[in-house]
Amino acid sequence: MKEIYNDIKINENGRYILIGGAWPYANNTLHLGHLAALLPGDVLARYHRQIGDNVIYVSGTDCHGTPITERAKKENTTPLDISSKYHDEFVKSFLSMNFSYNLYTSTESDFHKKTCEDVFKKMFDNGYIFEKIEKDNYCETCGKFVQDREVTVICPDCKQISKGDQCDCGHVFTKDELIGSTCVTCGEKTTTKDNKNLYLALSKLQNDIEVYVKENESKWRKNAQNETNKYLKEGLPDRAVTRDLNWGVNIPLPNYEDKRMYVWIEAVLGYLTTTMDFCKRNNLNYENWWKKSNKDSIMYMVHGKDNITFHSIIFPGILLALKDNYKLPDMIVSSEYLNFNEEKFSKSKGNGINILEAAEMFNIDTLRFHLVRNGPEKKDTNFTIEEYNSTHNEINNKLGNFINRTLKFKGIDTIKVANMDEQIKENLDNAYIDISKNMEAMEFREVTNVIMNILEVANKYYDEKMPWILFKEDIDKFNDCIYTCANIILNISNYIEPIMPKTASKIREYLNIENPSWGYIELKDDVKLNNIEPLFTRLK
Ligand SMILES: [Zn+2]
Ligand SMILES: [Zn+2]
Repeated sequence: MKEIYNDIKINENGRYILIGGAWPYANNTLHLGHLAALLPGDVLARYHRQIGDNVIYVSGTDCHGTPITERAKKENTTPLDISSKYHDEFVKSFLSMNFSYNLYTSTESDFHKKTCEDVFKKMFDNGYIFEKIEKDNYCETCGKFVQDREVTVICPDCKQISKGDQCDCGHVFTKDELIGSTCVTCGEKTTTKDNKNLYLALSKLQNDIEVYVKENESKWRKNAQNETNKYLKEGLPDRAVTRDLNWGVNIPLPNYEDKRMYVWIEAVLGYLTTTMDFCKRNNLNYENWWKKSNKDSIMYMVHGKDNITFHSIIFPGILLALKDNYKLPDMIVSSEYLNFNEEKFSKSKGNGINILEAAEMFNIDTLRFHLVRNGPEKKDTNFTIEEYNSTHNEINNKLGNFINRTLKFKGIDTIKVANMDEQIKENLDNAYIDISKNMEAMEFREVTNVIMNILEVANKYYDEKMPWILFKEDIDKFNDCIYTCANIILNISNYIEPIMPKTASKIREYLNIENPSWGYIELKDDVKLNNIEPLFTRLK
């Protein structure tokens, strides 16, 4: 399968940063709502690389499970076909939005499957996975145990015929309610039969998970704190980790040949397996990112609010069950939802824009900026094309035009090194501190506010200095002004690098600067101005 891969340059003095972007499920197109939830991961990855940290940013496509096998059956194809089709589309979508994953892979990768088996075996050996025999739905005609999604049943709430996992009215069926359900494959009534499955003993891990949550939750967003504590309060139930299916990761124990791992356990393990895969290819030790022995590391988990407890409870539980000094996620970057024209994104209702459509319709950098600036950080937010256009035009006015007015000033072809304005220098210096503080507190909207404020300062400085008059009357003062403005632009390219990487790179090209950096800088040499093009076009 295709991958996204980006190299890492190790900095001996840098911290070790692991960023896990949620694994999208391979049976639906990714839309702007997904993008809004996942974008903070790329912003963090770029920011930490820029300040000199050792970043591994991983994710991949979640390929297994019954929604995919069911769909394959319906469409008369294979689960591999369905998941490959979506995986390829996801890779294309993330690349179109300039996501800088170090490794984006899939749960179908051999490395992932093999490593999940090893991890599973370890949890079993440690006594956290145990066998339990229970009555399950069985179809005599088909000769197999049938999953929730493979049966239909009358919903006790709305009295309609519903699939066995969840009714459209929201009702979630209990095991008892599925007794006597109808097999969707053959149409016969199901019976029940003793079935042997393996369970993860989350109840045994409850205390350790509670300690972990208490130590970390003050850094998390409110939705993560609330959701996590709600589950802990209810008491963690042991969860089945095997199911009757022939598509997924094998169970590394005898007499489980016809079963596979539940998606919920192997998909979250993807963060670990993909880091191991990446480190193996680069001759690095994954323990620098994943073991408690390295104190100088941060682990961020980036996803939407519907995924919180997988990252704040289940995944930490799995890592604790390994009893091997694993580090647990530090930061839970859990977004609320982005709506489209005040409604939920819904493919079936034709509401929303998918990522590949967005890549055609919008400027990628101003879209990224808009989605961060209006990001659903603390509450649901809304996307409209009009509001996007207005953000784009604001960036065009405040940044695009400032660059044009400075670097395309009529009558000059070189920025001369001159005297930097001291007050502006102080403003630029402070912006680095403000952005860092907000980035590491997951306050990405605030980061865009700092950038907008600097743009206000820049434009005000330009208007007050009136370089078009200085040019005629005082060439030294004119050179100071243009040099100061060019330094503003240079530093802005650093501020915007995590959010608008293409624009930042274009600016560096104009100013002859090779790489982004972090901390106030100024031009050391005169810069010959060549091929300065407008960075944005105004939208109607
Ligand atoms: Zn119902
Ligand atoms: Zn049947």
